[in-house]
Amino acid sequence: MKKNILIVPGDGIGQEVTQVGKKVLDKIAQKFGHTFSYDQALIGHVAIEATGNPLPDESLAKMKASDAVLFGAVGHPKYDNDPSAKVRPEQGLLKMRKELGLYANLRPIKLFDELLGASSIKPEILKGADILFFRELTGDIYFGDKGRDNNGDTAFDVAKYSRYEVERIARKAFDAARTRRKKICSVDKANVLETSRLWREVIQVVAKDYPDVEVEHQFVDATAMLLIKDPRRFDVVVTANLFGDILTDEASQIAGSMGMLASASIGDGTGVYEPIHGSAHDITGKGLANPLASILSAALLLDISFKMKAESEAVINAVDKVLKSGYRTKDIADPLTESGKVLGTEAMGEEVLKNLD
Ligand code: NAD
Repeated sequence: MKKNILIVPGDGIGQEVTQVGKKVLDKIAQKFGHTFSYDQALIGHVAIEATGNPLPDESLAKMKASDAVLFGAVGHPKYDNDPSAKVRPEQGLLKMRKELGLYANLRPIKLFDELLGASSIKPEILKGADILFFRELTGDIYFGDKGRDNNGDTAFDVAKYSRYEVERIARKAFDAARTRRKKICSVDKANVLETSRLWREVIQVVAKDYPDVEVEHQFVDATAMLLIKDPRRFDVVVTANLFGDILTDEASQIAGSMGMLASASIGDGTGVYEPIHGSAHDITGKGLANPLASILSAALLLDISFKMKAESEAVINAVDKVLKSGYRTKDIADPLTESGKVLGTEAMGEEVLKNLD
C-alpha cells in the first residue's frame, strides 16, 4: 500500500520522539511491503520563530493533503510564563484541530504488565485496567467567546456545545464500546452546567440505538476519584473537551507515565496521531524522553487511518517485548531493580526496531 505521512514534530521533545516514531513506521513499511513517503511541516513555537504564525498556511495545506499526521507536541516556557503573549504555540494546535475537523480524541489507557511497579497506584488495583477515553476536541470552553471586562479585572471563557457535536462523538464511543466490553461511562457535571445537561440528554437519546451497550453517567468529580480507586470498572469513557483533558492526564498514571500514552485525533479527514505529553522542556535535548508514546501513536496511525491491524499489532508486540526484556527509559525505571537497563530516547527506539526484525 502507498501512503503519504506528514511528520509534524513541533517543539521540545516532540522533535526527538517523532524521529523515533518515523523510524518505526519505516521499518513496518519495509517488513510488510508498503511504500510510505514522508514530508515535514512546522507548528508551534518553531513555526512562530520561522514565520510569525503558529500554524502557517503551508503546514495546514500539507496536513490536509496527507494520509495521516504523526505529531509531536507544542509549547515553550517563554509563553507559559507570559500570559499576555498574543501569539502562542497552542493556537497552532487548536487551529489544526478545528481546521481538520478533529472532533474525537481517542486515548487508550492500558498498562503493560511489566510496568505494574512504575505507577504510583497499587499493582493489585491496576492489574487488568483497560480504558478507552473519547475526549471531544473541537467544542467546549476552549473554543467559546473569551475575553476581559471591567478594565481587564474580570475574565470569561464561554463553554458551548451543540447537539450534533455531542451526538457525533457519542456514536463513535458507542461503536467502540461494541467492539470491547460493551460498557460506556459518560462523564459530565449535569448537576451544575447547562452544557452538561444537553450532553447527558443527547447521550440518553443515542443510547437507545445501542441497547446492547450498558450506559452509566458519572459526574466529573466522582470520576476523578473512581479512576484511582477502581480503574478496572471503566471500559469506554466519553466526555467533553475540558473534562477529558484533565481526566486523561490523571489516567496517564494508570499507564505508569505520560511517556507511555498515545492518542488519535480523528474526524472527517486526515487523522492526527500524537503522544498525550507536551514539549517537556525540562528534559529537551538530554536524550531522556521516552519515545514509546510516539511509537504507540504510530501503531494507532497504522490501525485507524490505514486499517493495518497486523502492522499495528506488530509494533505493540515489539514494545511489549522490549519492556519484558527489562529495558526502560528513566521515567518508567525502577532505580533499585533495573539499573543498567535504563536507555535514552534513541537507544530505546533501536530496541523496538530490533524486536520488529
Ligand atoms: P509535559 O507533558 O510536557 O511534561 C510533564 C512532565 O512529564 C515533565 O516532567 C516531563 O519531563 C515529563 N514527560 C513528559 N513526556 C515525557 C516523555 N516522553 N518521557 C519522559 N518524561 C516525560 O507537560 P507540561 O510540563 O505541563 O507542559 C510543557 C509544555 O508542553 C507547555 O508549554 C504546555 O503548554 C505544552 N503541552 C503541549 C501539549 C501538546 O502539544 N499536545 C500537551 C500538554 C502540554
